[in-house]
Order: sequence, then structure tokens, then C-alpha cells
Amino acid sequence: MGLPEIETRITAACAAAGRARGDVTLIAVSKVQPLDRVAAVLAAGHRVFGENRVQEAEGKWPAFQAQYGRCDLHLIGPLQTNKARAAVELFGTIQTLDRPKLAQTLARLAQERGASPDVFVQVNTGLEDQKAGVAPSDVDAFVAKVRALDLPLVGLMCIPPAEDDPAPHFAALAAMAARNGLKGLSMGMSGDFAAAIAQGATHVRVGSAIFGERVAV
Ligand SMILES: *Cc1c(COP(=O)(O)O)cnc(C)c1O
Repeated sequence: MGLPEIETRITAACAAAGRARGDVTLIAVSKVQPLDRVAAVLAAGHRVFGENRVQEAEGKWPAFQAQYGRCDLHLIGPLQTNKARAAVELFGTIQTLDRPKLAQTLARLAQERGASPDVFVQVNTGLEDQKAGVAPSDVDAFVAKVRALDLPLVGLMCIPPAEDDPAPHFAALAAMAARNGLKGLSMGMSGDFAAAIAQGATHVRVGSAIFGERVAV
């Protein structure tokens, strides 16, 4: 599809939902993509990207940012505590906060550095064993814990089960965010970003529909 087509579709989805285009951030998910495809999207002026792995991101983004200027980088994959320091140095947003130990580590790093990336709490809306994220029933307590640690919590993130209609998952995440006074909602990928925007997404994470199918490495 490519970036211009996705931009057009996001604009249309915002209009259909009666929302302003400026209320939705497009995160171009560049994980595992050939560098020339990422460079083309940078050259087109896009500056917001998502990566799944700290190490992979460290291998490409310092050089891209030296060439194209600062980008807004979102970590959207699981974060091991021992990679937290590297993550906070590279990413402006960590979307996958999902356990107290990681929250404590991020808080300690924030104190030490005098700065912290924004964070989203990942919610496992489908209660899938293979997926990270806090259970919906634990969200309110975990949000309170993250706030008590003074981390800049901006919202919730989810990845619905592939086989489900995503809309009820998006609606559930929106309700959890609303009752916790959180504005950010990271939800929606290549196949369902329009549905996510209809349910209030503020951040959509689109990979293959922008860059093409991911090439196996
Ligand atoms: C890979 C990935 C995406 C993008 O998926 P596409 O289907 O290629 O758009 C979005 N969110 C997360 C968490 C991902 O890991």
C-alpha cells in the first residue's frame, strides 16, 4: 500500500469517526524491514517509528538519526529488564510496560537520568498465554503502581488475538483508559487501524501496509 495510501486511509477513518487527523499518530513499524525501505519512508518526511527489539533498533537508528535528524521512536516489543537502560537511551516511548519489576527499573533510570521516556501499559485483552501484557482485571492496580513511581504514563496498548474481531478488544481498552484518566490508546495495526481509530486510537502501529511484507531474516 505504502505511506501515502495509509495516510489517506487514516485521514478517512478520522473523518468517519468525527475525529481530528491530528489526534492520531501513525507509528511506522520498521522492524525487520530492509534499510532501503525505511530510508524511503524517512526521505518522504515521516519521523515516527516503532521497533520490537532494542538490539535491532540500536543497529539502525543512531545512523538514521544522524542522517535524517531526531525521530520519535516507540518500543512496541517486550522489554527485558537488562535491556532497559539501552531502551531508555534510544526510545522516546516504551509501549510495553507490563510488570512491576520493569516499572521499578524504569523509575530508577528516570531518577538517575533526570528524564524518562513516555510509557504505555500493555494490556493482554485476550488473556493469551503467549502474549505479554497485564490482565484486564489487574490494569487499575498496575496503573496506580506506575503512577506512584512517577513514570510519565500516557496510555494503554494492546494487541488483540489474531483470530478475534478486534473491535471489542479496542472498545475494552478504551474503557480501561477512560476510567483511569488516560488519554493515550495505542491500538490498530495494518489490518485493523481503521477499526481502532473508530474506537478512539491515538496511536496506530502500521508495519507491512507501509513497508511491504516483512522479509524473513
Ligand atoms: C509488528 C507489529 C505491528 C505491525 O504489524 P503489521 O501487521 O505489519 O502492521 C504492530 N504492533 C506490534 C506490537 C507489532 O509487533
